[in-house]
Amino acid sequence: MKDIKNSEKELYRIAREKMVETQIKARGIKDSRVLQVMLKVPRHLFVDEALRDQAYGDFPLPIGEGQTISQPYIVAVMTEALELKGDERVLEIGTGSGYQTAILAELALWVYTIEKYSLLLEKAKKILAELGYKNVSFKLGDGTLGWKEVAPFDAIIVTAAAPQIPPPLIDQLLEGGRIVIPVGDAFSQILIKGIKKEGVLHTKSLEPVRFVKLIGAYGFKE
Ligand code: SAH
Repeated sequence: MKDIKNSEKELYRIAREKMVETQIKARGIKDSRVLQVMLKVPRHLFVDEALRDQAYGDFPLPIGEGQTISQPYIVAVMTEALELKGDERVLEIGTGSGYQTAILAELALWVYTIEKYSLLLEKAKKILAELGYKNVSFKLGDGTLGWKEVAPFDAIIVTAAAPQIPPPLIDQLLEGGRIVIPVGDAFSQILIKGIKKEGVLHTKSLEPVRFVKLIGAYGFKE
């Protein structure tokens, strides 16, 4: 049994190497810390057992409650855009499976993550604890309002589609801080990167994306 477990681990490690080479490096991701953690984090443990063999494919996967774990390449693009060096406090909206949370926990000092569905939040909490991540705080609720008690943040990542950049998130970003968020309608969005300079958010478009909806006070309505 132990041998089977070990060879399974090895197969997933090889799948991760292939994922990083063909989906991530090949498409221009250069931040070596991002590439390193994508080689390390066991993405297959963040999806249901029946989907594990597909976990390193070039696509999102269902995680329950009508939600999805983002495509690996999109996780890489968004993470690289946050420009994490290791000493940041990061706010994540849309914990989902917790995979992106693990990537952030590897690259930053502390991750504050907010999820709307308690079932997803509990599942993510469990797997992240099992994997030994201790620098993550979880909150159930509407992430479009941010997390006032622990703001401001060096970086903010929103992993659901927003009709606009929620103003509370801009308020809760530090001077020099980065925010990455898909903005558009329910069907297609543009990934936006914003940097706060002298109190004003300067934005640029990264690429077209398709996310599930951010639902909340400054998101879409139910
Ligand atoms: N990063 C996650 C992506 C999950 S999909 C992953 O890779 O697994 C987006 C998530 O955002 C869903 O889990 C959804 O429930 C959550 N969500 C939607 N609106 C939200 C809101 N207002 N606040 C917090 N989470 C929200």
